[in-house]
Amino acid sequence: MSAAGAAVKPAPTTKGAVPFLVIPKEGEPYLAGSKCGKCGEVVAGSREVCGKCGARKTMQHVKLGTTGKLYNYTVVYRNFPGVPVPFISAIVDIDGGGTLKGNLLGVEPVPEKIKFDLPVNIVIRQVPQKDKDGNSYLAYFFEPRS
Ligand SMILES: [Zn+2]
Repeated sequence: MSAAGAAVKPAPTTKGAVPFLVIPKEGEPYLAGSKCGKCGEVVAGSREVCGKCGARKTMQHVKLGTTGKLYNYTVVYRNFPGVPVPFISAIVDIDGGGTLKGNLLGVEPVPEKIKFDLPVNIVIRQVPQKDKDGNSYLAYFFEPRS
C-alpha cells in the first residue's frame, strides 16, 4: 500500500509577492506590465483590454521601468500585529509608464522629510519572513535615488 494521505510536500521555493513580479529561470527578477499598442498606456500586471482607450488584443507584455517619482504617500502608524510601524506607503509613477503602490524605504517616516516628485529606484528584495511551507518571497520597494 502506498502512503495515501501522506502528501508529498513540495520543496520550498522563492516566489514573487505579487503576480506581476516575474522571476525568470535566467536573468534578474523584474516587474511586468502591459502596454497598449494603440494608445501607449502602460499598467502594472497583465491586461486583456486597455483601461484608457478600451482597445482589445493590443496589450503587450513589457518590463516596467526601474525608476520613478513619488506621486503621493501616507505614513502608516497602525497595522497588523508584528508589522513594524510607522512606514511610508507610497504611490510612484514609473518612468516609462505605469503606477505602483508600495513601501518607500530609506526616508524617515515624517511628512517634513518626504518630498513629492522624489526620484526613486524601484528595487526587488527578499522579504525576511517565510510562509508556513518555507517558501520565501521577493517583493518590490522604493528607495530614494541619489
Ligand atoms: Zn489603449
